[in-house]
Amino acid sequence: ADRPYIVGNWKMNGTRAMLSEARAIDRSAQRLMKVEVALAPPFTLIHAVHREVEQIGVGAQDCHSGPDGANTGDISAAMVADSGAKFVILGHSERRQDHGESNALVQSKINAAIEAGLRVILCCGETEETRDSGDAENYVCNQLKESLPSDFNKAEEALTIAYEPIWAIGTGRTPTVDDIESMHKAIRSLLISLYGAEQAAEVRILYGGSVKPENAKELLSAAEVGGALVGGASLTAESFLGIVIAAA
Ligand code: 13P
Repeated sequence: ADRPYIVGNWKMNGTRAMLSEARAIDRSAQRLMKVEVALAPPFTLIHAVHREVEQIGVGAQDCHSGPDGANTGDISAAMVADSGAKFVILGHSERRQDHGESNALVQSKINAAIEAGLRVILCCGETEETRDSGDAENYVCNQLKESLPSDFNKAEEALTIAYEPIWAIGTGRTPTVDDIESMHKAIRSLLISLYGAEQAAEVRILYGGSVKPENAKELLSAAEVGGALVGGASLTAESFLGIVIAAA
């Protein structure tokens, strides 16, 4: 769990024309083995990206909580795994806000993903209002308590947490290194209190929100930051690799 983990979340971006970016990222990642690199393209590109790359991990941005059935437009965790994905991002604030995903739903999706053999990146983060009210750490820890997998023993090696303050996503604004450290330490303490020090140590905690090549080194140097979840800057190989190099 010591290698920094840099994950690109392409969100609703990318057609086959972008496969060349994935290829370029993969080529360079082969020379930067000190860093674990992964991409989460849209569902429609998972299989194609998986076939193009050798080194980097490929994952999805969501899955359904159920195994199969009459759920038009949904994708199960087993389908995600079958497409070549090795992990899934769950509980992203854009899913929570735009699709009304509750902590309980996020938890049931995590349980399904782990059952399907996928690793999970569980996202958490507060709004600007909550940050301003001084309650961010409580809020985030409560969000996690309610969405962490039901059976941690099954999930321990499969779980990564991503702290993404909502007000920092796509805005060019980031918390201070002190604020990030303080939040990541609060999350680590929560994990220790729930699972014990040894098991909690297995879980990497990523930072996400306006990570760019220019600020990556500083943000990644913060204590307890085990990597980054990158949105906009993951869409070109050039900027994403700038972040990967900063992590190496
Ligand atoms: P940006 O890097 O575009 O701010 O997005 C962060 C994010 O939401 C990654 O999941």
